[in-house]
Amino acid sequence: MSLQRQPNKKSKYKQTKKNYAQSEHYIHLTIDERKSVVKELATVVGRWGFARLFAECIDKIHFNSSKQTADEQAFEQLVSRYEAFLRATSNPDHKKLGIMIHDNNQTVAKRHTDLMKSFHRKGTLWTAVNNIIETPLFVDSSLTSMIQIADLCSYALRRYCENGETELFDLIYKRADKKDGVVVGVRHFTDLSCTCKICSNHRKPIVGELFNGGTSSISESNSAD
Ligand SMILES: [Zn+2]
Repeated sequence: MSLQRQPNKKSKYKQTKKNYAQSEHYIHLTIDERKSVVKELATVVGRWGFARLFAECIDKIHFNSSKQTADEQAFEQLVSRYEAFLRATSNPDHKKLGIMIHDNNQTVAKRHTDLMKSFHRKGTLWTAVNNIIETPLFVDSSLTSMIQIADLCSYALRRYCENGETELFDLIYKRADKKDGVVVGVRHFTDLSCTCKICSNHRKPIVGELFNGGTSSISESNSAD
């Protein structure tokens, strides 16, 4: 309220109000309690041996948007990697099929639907698409818990890529899809000299305790990298 009373702080008040607009449901928790909920969730996700994480983290400073937008590149990469995963984990008696579910966003819903139709017809730059069915389903994230889990993973990845924060990242990165010990499910699109864990692990086999919990059943080349 003190911000509101000072005219010269009007824009700051407006921004502050915007920043806190989404937190109304959580004001009964202290900041430490909120952080511990997020950490607890990330710990649980890290233990989901059945789950595989696919992500494309684009540093827009190093991105050339003349051919496609960052959003379109990320979508094409995810489709390609998920398709490769489904194909590689299928067998002649059991073709694995997958479906993509998105947070509903009017600006991307139509574009991603059109893109997916095009991928079904012509494939992505990297692969034909035979195992991902349908165009993406768009749901209300506030009603759909798995979308919130995907958001949590995105948050952890972003905080790591932008600020180097490892606490949440180390928990959820265990679930990144791997092939022969190399992380193929998560990519950091940035300067080639980047030495972050994602870039390092994308290039060479992984050693270390962090990754012992993860296994990958991918058995064929993922050419999307
Ligand atoms: Zn990196």
